[in-house]
Amino acid sequence: MKRSAYRKSFIIRSSHKDVTMEQIQVMGVRGLPLIHEGDNIAAMICKTIPVQDGDILCIASTIYSKAKGFTKPLASIKPSKRAERLAKLNGEDPRFVQAVLDASADIIMEHPFILSELSFGHIGVRAGVDQSNIEDGMLIFLPPDPMKAAAELQAEILTLTTKDVGIIITDTCGRSFRRGQTGNAIGWSGFCAIRDFRGDTDLFGHVLKITEEAVVDEIAGFANFVMGESNNGVPAVIFRNCPPWTGHDNLYFTAKEDITKRVLKKNGTVRKKEM
Ligand code: GDP
Ligand code: MN
Ligand code: MN
Repeated sequence: MKRSAYRKSFIIRSSHKDVTMEQIQVMGVRGLPLIHEGDNIAAMICKTIPVQDGDILCIASTIYSKAKGFTKPLASIKPSKRAERLAKLNGEDPRFVQAVLDASADIIMEHPFILSELSFGHIGVRAGVDQSNIEDGMLIFLPPDPMKAAAELQAEILTLTTKDVGIIITDTCGRSFRRGQTGNAIGWSGFCAIRDFRGDTDLFGHVLKITEEAVVDEIAGFANFVMGESNNGVPAVIFRNCPPWTGHDNLYFTAKEDITKRVLKKNGTVRKKEM
């Protein structure tokens, strides 16, 4: 066998080491009631579908926040001058705008919608504040520390079931350059966010220099597809048989790395004195 042919067949065979990748099972958790403050969502989910060691459980941030009471009546919010101004500019309710400002650690863009960074590093449109899938006049905020939330859910499930289940807390997010929203991971526990391919070789032996795969976002994206956006009533999704991966947790760019954020802030309409 010629050297190149041998090498190619070896690499292709070796890629089959992830033999379970072709057997991933995806199960939406259907049958959960409307979630209210104080509900134990870990227990409710595990009662609906028995989990297994190695499962990845994706949970919509919406139900986590409702269960933990990260919600607020719109009527209780008093808008500031800045909120009034942005509300007029963007055609929104000034109380909603105030909620978005309150949830933001840093405003990146003010118009045509507020784009902001949350204290845990996520950048999102309207700070991820939602008005859907909750009673009229109520707002849902993203959990303030989704990494801690995911770690706690993992520990709770371990205590409840003795099963070691990885967690991803998801949110539906808009994105740059493309129309349409997708699911993103905002908190995770039990694995790292990014599968690092740097230093690996491709089918032709080229060393990969850049490729880091945001696995938690890919899984969150599929989970979001299974959940649906409106009245589907599927706020959790289980992935079974995902092969493990190695890498790191630096999902968010540092301020120095984030070129897009820098450009947007430079050209945005943020008035520093109002921050
Ligand atoms: P987000 O992406 O975290 O903002 O959540 P969505 O509002 O898009 O909801 C995701 C999925 O969870 C959809 O299938 C909703 O119908 C469902 N969902 C939202 N809230 C509840 C709830 O309280 N109970 C149940 N059973 N499903 C819910
Ligand atoms: Mn949301
Ligand atoms: Mn959604």
